[in-house]
Amino acid sequence: LVTVCKAHKVAVLPGDGIGPEIMKAALKVLTAAGKKEGQTFEFTEALIGGAAIDATGSPLPKETLDVCKASDAVLLAAIGGYKWDTLPAEQRPERGLLGLRAGLNAFANLRPAIVQKQLADSSPLKKEIVEGVDILIVRELVGGIYFGQPRGFGINDKGERIGFNTDVYSESEVERIARVAFEAAQKRGKRLCSVEKSNVLEVSQLWKEVVIRVGKDYPDVELSHMYIDNAAMQLLRNPRYFDVVVTGNIFGDILSDEASMLAGSLGMLPSASISGEGPGIYEPVHGSAPDIAGQDIANPMAMVMSAAMMCRYDLNIPKVADRLEAAVNAALDSGLRTKDLWKEGTTLVKCSELGDKLVELV
Ligand code: ATP
Ligand code: MG
Repeated sequence: LVTVCKAHKVAVLPGDGIGPEIMKAALKVLTAAGKKEGQTFEFTEALIGGAAIDATGSPLPKETLDVCKASDAVLLAAIGGYKWDTLPAEQRPERGLLGLRAGLNAFANLRPAIVQKQLADSSPLKKEIVEGVDILIVRELVGGIYFGQPRGFGINDKGERIGFNTDVYSESEVERIARVAFEAAQKRGKRLCSVEKSNVLEVSQLWKEVVIRVGKDYPDVELSHMYIDNAAMQLLRNPRYFDVVVTGNIFGDILSDEASMLAGSLGMLPSASISGEGPGIYEPVHGSAPDIAGQDIANPMAMVMSAAMMCRYDLNIPKVADRLEAAVNAALDSGLRTKDLWKEGTTLVKCSELGDKLVELV
């Protein structure tokens, strides 16, 4: 009996700066890990960001969005650089990313904060506090106070100028992000903490009610609730408490940056922006690092971990994800470090060398 496995269609957007270098390494590793599990990929490369501006005048050519929409998932490296910094905001490379998120309706941002045991002493917190931390923050990305209406400036009844914004969530907006979070929790440690400020805010009361209601569909996931101020504190005091965290746009913005500091290095952290239906966007948390571009010294691990998230959350091939994560772990165990993580007693490797090592280790 022969099982024919269709190739997973992946849109590949290397972008700018170190993007092409880390993407090249990650695709090699992904292909090798897939092969071990009988999975194949069909990569379609497309232009985005500064590279797309130079070639076509637009940071997100229509052709790129079409390629992404026709794929099972989008793997993106990094966008932007000095060369395009003087363009007006609406023509900047970053607009390509916003357009891509909007075009794919990516309303959920997933950011793991993982502290690899080998790197626990790179954290600004004590090793015994951060060792073993493995958190997934699920942030609502297209609603809440950053987008709510009405917003603007005005005059109050004392004749003073005021600025105001509106924090608003509908039941359906909360429900869809809650489902993404519960489903992610089912694939991990089966604990979900919903973070809000329901002691003060109506928008948070609704948030909490809806999360509790949705939770009835996921009886295997243990649900807890925490106020944002307490969550910000616990993230530093006892980060191992958390498995999956779900929260709104502004709280998630702050908490995910706070959580990313636990790991100590930007070069290790992946992210996903997903719609729960069509293709998701998988990219490292770090930027295009123009200061080190073209030197083959960037750390490709965040890119490899982004590919692992893609395998787990979009392509549904968790065994390939496991292999990628295990390879990163094994490379760290054997002391291999790119320049950003190098210390006395470890082995300095180039981006491409680390890619080749990871191919051997998957
Ligand atoms: P952006 O504005 O695009 O979000 P940023 O300006 O905040 O990004 P990065 O481009 O992420 O910053 O770079 C911040 C610093 O971290 C730079 O000095 C860069 O060289 C370093 N850095 C980022 N990513 C990596 C990586 N993968 N490997 C090694 N160093 C990195
Ligand atoms: Mg930058």
